[in-house]
Amino acid sequence: MNCVCDLKLTVREMGLADFVRLYQNQERFLAYCRECDNYGAKWSCPPMGLDTAEFLSHYSYVTVAAVQVVYNEDVIASTPENQVKDVTLDTLMPVKAAFHDAMLNVEREVPGRLTLSSGGCTICRQCTRPDGVPCRQPSRMRYSLDSFGFDLSAITGDLLGIKLLWCRGKLPAYYTLIHALLERKPMDGVVEQVVLRQLFASDECRENSLRDRSR
Ligand code: SF4
Repeated sequence: MNCVCDLKLTVREMGLADFVRLYQNQERFLAYCRECDNYGAKWSCPPMGLDTAEFLSHYSYVTVAAVQVVYNEDVIASTPENQVKDVTLDTLMPVKAAFHDAMLNVEREVPGRLTLSSGGCTICRQCTRPDGVPCRQPSRMRYSLDSFGFDLSAITGDLLGIKLLWCRGKLPAYYTLIHALLERKPMDGVVEQVVLRQLFASDECRENSLRDRSR
């Protein structure tokens, strides 16, 4: 079987106070959240009913980790517009789940760490929030980085040297999943080591995400 895409990991760590000063603009970016279908419909997304400044005040460092799902040129050229959404979901969702689990494992190594996830939670097929029922998996659900009003394009561009791409009638060269880990102490490369070891060795990623669906 041929692989339809490859994965690339980029990680940067910085002080949380500088990160907030440089990249948080709640008024501007939460306005985008209000236009999203996940707004008020996923427990990972706004409105979150918490004081975000107080929430972040418990941490001193942030490690931003981005996984690029990079499509090979043949797949981009041969995927018709009406299959772009399916190929996107089939390739992105298993990587997102494996990345989320790898970040949770980094988090659990030391009490007091906390992961922020990439976009709205996709753990359950149907979120309970529209029914007013508590989250089914609070031990695994994590707030999205977007929910704090962070500028993801600036974070990836400035910190990681990655320009965010979206599909425009065809698959982009790559998609980018962005997670973060909040800590009280410097992480010294731990996130990179664990994610590389767990995500890039993941059979699930290899077998379910990176294989050509058409074969
Ligand atoms: S774990 Fe399930 S119930 Fe909780 S936020 Fe995610 S999708 Fe919703």
